[in-house]
Amino acid sequence: MIMVDPISVLEARRIIRGAVGVPSFESVQRDALLGRVLARDVVAREDTPPFDNSAMDGFAVRAEDLMQVPRELRLQSAVRAGEQSQEPLTPGSCIQVMTGAPVPDQANAVVPVEWTSGWPRGEDAKVRFERAPGVGQHIRRAGRDVRSGDRVLVAGRVVTPPVIGMLAALGCESADVYRRPTVAVLATGDELVSDGSPLSPGQIRNSNGPGLSAQCRAAGAEVVFEDVARDNQESVSDAISRGLQGDILLISGGVSVGAYDYVRPALEAAGVEILFWRVLQRPGKPLAFGQGNGSLVFGLPGNPVSSAVCFEQYVRPALRRLAGDASPPGRLRAVLTDDVEKKRDLHYFARGVAGQSDDGQISVALAGAQGSNIYSSMVQANCIVHLVAGDEVVAAGSHVEIEPFSWAPWSAFCNNGA
Ligand code: AMP
Ligand code: MG
Repeated sequence: MIMVDPISVLEARRIIRGAVGVPSFESVQRDALLGRVLARDVVAREDTPPFDNSAMDGFAVRAEDLMQVPRELRLQSAVRAGEQSQEPLTPGSCIQVMTGAPVPDQANAVVPVEWTSGWPRGEDAKVRFERAPGVGQHIRRAGRDVRSGDRVLVAGRVVTPPVIGMLAALGCESADVYRRPTVAVLATGDELVSDGSPLSPGQIRNSNGPGLSAQCRAAGAEVVFEDVARDNQESVSDAISRGLQGDILLISGGVSVGAYDYVRPALEAAGVEILFWRVLQRPGKPLAFGQGNGSLVFGLPGNPVSSAVCFEQYVRPALRRLAGDASPPGRLRAVLTDDVEKKRDLHYFARGVAGQSDDGQISVALAGAQGSNIYSSMVQANCIVHLVAGDEVVAAGSHVEIEPFSWAPWSAFCNNGA
């Protein structure tokens, strides 16, 4: 079924969300988990820390022995981190403990060495204490960080470096995470040259193929197929049949109304149901979306900005959902510093350069010329500026929503004041 009229951005998002299936998962070794998304909760099977231990280099004491200070206590023995304390602390004595060492039985406080006469030497040594410790002082209790049975990490959590550290702290050598989505990337066009060889008249370089593949990888997907098809039915159909193998097939170009735009008919011939074609947006109006043979298919318009922006707006969220991450893209409000004229019925995804001033206000300027062939603005911009359908003029000083690019440094949007 093909809809005749272009649909709204919201409708396009809704249709794509509805087509994304439930992601499957796999068990992955801990050192390969970074950036993946947990598919199951992680429940602690042991306490962290596993035993009461000293937070300081000092002496384990019974607080009641030091009610009156200064006082000297006999040094009974010493315990280091990694050792087990052999004997309970006897009254009137102290045991030398290093940070992380188990606190001996009967001890109920640790006094830092700085509060004493210092590390004792020789036999029958004594330690002089200058201050009275509180009960429990400088003892890190077993399970104070995490208790056995605690649900420490919840499914849907992206694995960050601290998550890796926590898994290690809990003794988890692997975790169940959602499978990385697979993507086939197909560029189309008779004019495209994919290597660095000199261009013949009429030729241009294939920038969409490598750019889209990099966007896929940056979104956590695995690129399993990259190819270029020529502008004829046979080449496009052949490449589509080979490319319909991943979770998602991305096709750039050939999706508009040109006499050599074979993508939509070739998709339909391959059994792909087109769910929409054309969205009320700029850039990227000819965007097509369908599904077939277990793949979701995006027909991205060939202009480099259109394909890159449509990827960020539509493909990336679909890939993140397939990767188990359903969190919406972050948006901020910013003050627009340029006047923009637009077509009333279209949603504009302008490329912007946003930054925060000393007073905390985020402002955004357009990143130069906004033509869908001006790729340098993609490199310069750090965000998409949403200029919504319904407006015809957006005046400088208006508040607009911006969406930082996933690769843009967050520091640009944050006040750098220390
Ligand atoms: P199309 O959507 O095929 O009509 O292409 C629209 C414009 O994008 C044309 O100027 C193409 O030359 C250009 N284009 C198409 N595919 C690519 C590509 N892979 N890399 C760079 N430019 C492209
Ligand atoms: Mg073309």
